[in-house]
Amino acid sequence: MKSYRLIPPVATLFLLGAHGLRQGDFGLLASLAVLAGLLLARRAWARPVAVAAFLWGGIIWTQTAVDLVRFRMALDLPWERLAWIMGGGILLDGLALVLLLGRGLDDWFDRERTWARPRAAMFLLTVIGLAVARSKVDFPILLADRYLPGWGWLEIFLLGCYAQWIGVRMRTPKGHRTVRPRIWALFSAVFFLQLGLGILGMDRMLMTGTLHLPVPALIVAGPVFRGGGYFMLVLFGATLLLVGPAWCSHLCYVGAWDDVLSRSGGRPAPSNTLRALSLWGRGATLLLVVGVAWVLRVAGMPGVSAVFLGAAFGLAGVGVMVFISRRLGKMVHCTAFCPMGLIGNFFGRIAPWRVRIDTDCTRCGACLTVCRYNALDGDSLAQGRPALSCTLCGDCVSACAHGHIGYVFPGLSGEAARTAFIVLAVSLHALFLGVARM
Ligand code: SF4
Ligand code: SF4
Repeated sequence: MKSYRLIPPVATLFLLGAHGLRQGDFGLLASLAVLAGLLLARRAWARPVAVAAFLWGGIIWTQTAVDLVRFRMALDLPWERLAWIMGGGILLDGLALVLLLGRGLDDWFDRERTWARPRAAMFLLTVIGLAVARSKVDFPILLADRYLPGWGWLEIFLLGCYAQWIGVRMRTPKGHRTVRPRIWALFSAVFFLQLGLGILGMDRMLMTGTLHLPVPALIVAGPVFRGGGYFMLVLFGATLLLVGPAWCSHLCYVGAWDDVLSRSGGRPAPSNTLRALSLWGRGATLLLVVGVAWVLRVAGMPGVSAVFLGAAFGLAGVGVMVFISRRLGKMVHCTAFCPMGLIGNFFGRIAPWRVRIDTDCTRCGACLTVCRYNALDGDSLAQGRPALSCTLCGDCVSACAHGHIGYVFPGLSGEAARTAFIVLAVSLHALFLGVARM
């Protein structure tokens, strides 16, 4: 085994980390040191991650070289030696890239080979998403940057590691069904813990120091009332484009409560009343919240009235969860009350992800007893598709012993579609864990 081939990649990672120290970026050095450790520990998923790091490193070295040489030339200072040194750094980066991509290290990476590429994809999507969010907002969006300046990259790196770790646990339909509710509840707990600490005076736990109500309906009603403040609406819209209605089964900070409470009830059974309410009930609450927000705005009512009404709507929703979802074993709040659920179900269709039942379905009904979104009944099995309220949660996929129900995406096999969906959903989850707060 030619482990000496790892010397240039490891050296390059440390060199890149040391370059980060020029801006006081201790977190970057620590992250790249951990990545070097993962390469030495033969983790297969770390290999594509390191390849991405070297591609990024090549850009950084080239940009830095050009800037420094231009600077020296402008001051009429000697620049040739500097150019040679920087050129050496770029060449080392290229060598590291070639060695990692070459076949010579294939045998080395023999650990955690299962799902190595999806794991690397989850890591990279999380890291890239967080890095972009961090660079685009004009305040420290990560908690590490707020409490430990210079360590933001380490938080990003650790969230990337977390994404690949939970992602591989969701590899099988059964794993997806077990892990999804737990990570969803974890996200909600972290979100509300930060909110609670923010209210108690730790204002760095809040997004901008300004409090907002954590009521999903206000994602659409808030901008109508304020005439601005589209951040959450844009975030919601971005998730619709990427994973369709899966906001309501993987990402919403309040939907997780409905999930927990419905699970404390019995097994769900199809309900026609709830099916009708999924359109008309949520349509009515959508008209109500948007209409009231607009009237308050036109009437010039003070923000405190809007807060009071928003809180009352949120509390009514909690009542639905506690008294109805828990009794029926279904997510009644999300499928019959919350207007964002309806918007998600409608506009989520923009994304091509679907759950489909194939024609060989035996009609055994096993999936009907796990769908807490009331999206499956005899008719939907016959039609081969769940009803409007499906949020792509995936619970039915693991319930079908014959594999007749699954994710579909144009051009992908069933397994590839499920893998790609989980990669996106998990990456968004880890991203939200890092940045979502009130
Ligand atoms: S229906 Fe509303 S509360 Fe439920 S998950 Fe969707 S946005 Fe959240
Ligand atoms: S039909 Fe399946 S994927 Fe859709 S909400 Fe029901 S259990 Fe979840």
